[in-house]
Amino acid sequence: MARKAHPNSSASKQPILSAEVLDGSRGGLAAAGSEQSSGVIDAQLVSSLESQSVSAPCTACGSPRAGDSKFCAACGAPLEIADPSAVVAGNSGSSVSAVPNHMFKCQNCGSEVATSLDQRSYVCPFCDSTYVTEISVSRSGRQRPEFVIGFAVTSQDAEEKFLEWLRRNSWFRPGDLAVKAISEKQRGVYLPFWHFSVHAASSWSARIGEYWYRTEHYTTRDSKGNTVRRTRTVTETEWFPLSGHHNRYYHGFLVPATKGISEAEARAIHPFQLASLTRYRPYFLAGWMAEEYSVEMPEAMEKTKEEFRQRQVAEIQRFLPGDTQSNLSVNTEFDVTGSDLMLLPVHVLSYRYRDKVYRFLVNGQTGKVVGEKPYSATRIGVAVAVILAVILIVFVVALVMSAR
Ligand SMILES: [Zn+2]
Ligand SMILES: [Zn+2]
Repeated sequence: MARKAHPNSSASKQPILSAEVLDGSRGGLAAAGSEQSSGVIDAQLVSSLESQSVSAPCTACGSPRAGDSKFCAACGAPLEIADPSAVVAGNSGSSVSAVPNHMFKCQNCGSEVATSLDQRSYVCPFCDSTYVTEISVSRSGRQRPEFVIGFAVTSQDAEEKFLEWLRRNSWFRPGDLAVKAISEKQRGVYLPFWHFSVHAASSWSARIGEYWYRTEHYTTRDSKGNTVRRTRTVTETEWFPLSGHHNRYYHGFLVPATKGISEAEARAIHPFQLASLTRYRPYFLAGWMAEEYSVEMPEAMEKTKEEFRQRQVAEIQRFLPGDTQSNLSVNTEFDVTGSDLMLLPVHVLSYRYRDKVYRFLVNGQTGKVVGEKPYSATRIGVAVAVILAVILIVFVVALVMSAR
């Protein structure tokens, strides 16, 4: 009778009634999102939200400035020390006020967008629909954003990124794509995200199984028909109950609250460097658009909790001792220590081609691009036909040569 030694298992044969498997440290970074699901996005650690001093954004590119530096860190333009409320940023051209004073709802995709741009007519930045109606700017019960990351990528840069991205594999683009007219549809939009700081406290219990090996004697007949005694090793499992606690502090996870772009797009445009988060001031929106959140806070919090509930279970599973486990039951309680609405900068370009909406996105902080472009079925068909023709010719030539 021999017990198999296992590095994770307790050396004692006595059943262990309680064990502290892991002690989550407050403020520790959570494991990177291998078990990522359900609309929660990993992001960089939030740091020094309170310590950052805020002054008016760069008038050339709209990115926030740190302290009282004389030049913009993003574009190098000289910064004027001006009254923040008078600062103009973003897509200048039409008259711009520092505070969003227009708000419209797209009747096609349902997104609600605030803007300080004074235009006679609006086009939805997300679905390129003109079917929009102006609604009241100030509606009660709406939460104001707490934090914002300013645009560091200018509209011109974003447009160049679009043209360059479109140029790749350009032969397969439909010939009638009005590229110039399309590129003018680009809009800088602040997209809403929810962020929660959460302490998760889990109590768990499980049955831990450890293998041990028993030598068994048995009788059988050998090839000559004689009765012989043999021995064999049988694996047995010894079960014992185990329970414990697993605590962890989570933050840096974002739940998209946008209706304008899909969850997959919101995930693809990440990451944002949340270290540059700044306290929200209305003048950040000057010249840009800002989407209203359309996922309410309780719903976003539930999504966050569900994600962390799963992560807690996955972490506990990873650290359970023994050779095998069963009946794991985890009960997780949450203490939400902070909930914030954030606005993150994205250049959105939506256009229609043959009744389908295509979207091209540029992360307004990092310049990362995400998009889908139309391909010409005719041109792809031509390319395939040419390749097939070449193969056929080679085949026929080979046939003729071998027939000689
Ligand atoms: Zn600048
Ligand atoms: Zn729309």
